[in-house]
Amino acid sequence: MKVFVTGGAGFIGSAVIRYLISDTDYEVVNIDKLTYAGNLESLKCVAGSSRYCFEKVDICDRAALDELFKKHAPQAVMHLAAESHVDRSIDGPADFVQTNIVGTYNLLEATRYYWQGLPEASKAAFRFHHISTDEVYGDLEGTHDLFHEKTPYAPSSPYSASKASADHLVRAWQRTFGLPTLITNCSNNYGPYHFPEKLIPLMILNALDRKALPIYGAGNQVRDWLFVEDHARALHKVLAEGQVGTTYNIGGHNEKTNLDVVHKLCELLDELCPRAEGGTYGELITHVKDRPGHDVRYAIDASKIQRELGWVPVESFETGLRKTVEWYLNNQEWCRRVQDGSYQRERLGIKE
Ligand code: NAD
Repeated sequence: MKVFVTGGAGFIGSAVIRYLISDTDYEVVNIDKLTYAGNLESLKCVAGSSRYCFEKVDICDRAALDELFKKHAPQAVMHLAAESHVDRSIDGPADFVQTNIVGTYNLLEATRYYWQGLPEASKAAFRFHHISTDEVYGDLEGTHDLFHEKTPYAPSSPYSASKASADHLVRAWQRTFGLPTLITNCSNNYGPYHFPEKLIPLMILNALDRKALPIYGAGNQVRDWLFVEDHARALHKVLAEGQVGTTYNIGGHNEKTNLDVVHKLCELLDELCPRAEGGTYGELITHVKDRPGHDVRYAIDASKIQRELGWVPVESFETGLRKTVEWYLNNQEWCRRVQDGSYQRERLGIKE
């Protein structure tokens, strides 16, 4: 099995590639443009594998994609390349429209062109797996409601609107052209190699630097947290066994407010890396003005993937968060190189 993974240098894409190389016999072609969020240093442990290769390509470049299909002849595409940070989508939505919508369209067309030329048996076995977010469903009002696969789309931010558009395109390419697609919509991920603009790594690294821990508003936004390695396992399950043309929601059964998450992180840091100068990390928490359009609650009903494919998360929030904090404490060099920008400078050939 040879699979294209787009966005494989990102947080989830790199977890998927590490999993596919270590736990399966798949060959993986990592297709990534290397934006600020792409970090090949997250793939050091697989870079030497004969089953892994990297292609620096923008998914908006149709000619380059056609070349890649010709060169590698994959049996599946796992599409994770995206602009993924909500705050950035508010500051500048253009890149989100370009990569998440136009890029997905390009990738679908390049895939369709290649797929149409395959022999019938290979055509039937081919899969295009689009990796999406629960944010396409918008906000949950009731405290007991859950997003299920038929929940109507109601995205709130430019990021979630662009992902919703991509989901619609993928569905249309299945209905109209018969491309064998799968869609997964997942809740908030956390874990090792997470770029420190997102809540959990930002709070860990700020705390270690004794900087303020900024919480939007009262911090009562509820998210359903999933350990990234559980997500990678779920994606492989869906790719290998999922029913074509359908959607699977993936979630961690871990609903927490942002404030709870940050308090829990501070407690773990107090235990694992106590402040030499005294005091607790919780003292660094500060509340800042909330961002516009901030959804209050997301929560996933992940019973379909459990029922049909037998997937359940291995990590609880407690075990996953402890592993995450330990990883950041033990991988300060990876963090330093992201924080000072050297992970990007070197690959651009710029001397320190
Ligand atoms: P990320 O921002 O960490 O990584 C995105 C990767 O895509 C980067 O390596 C970047 O270089 C690459 N990329 C961006 N534009 C590209 C382009 N035009 N061509 C080729 N590569 C490009 O994102 P992530 O957190 O790993 O998320 C991966 C996918 O999973 C996204 O589609 C996201 O919407 C989805 N998702 C994320 C979460 C989450 O909590 N992080 C939850 C559910 C779904």
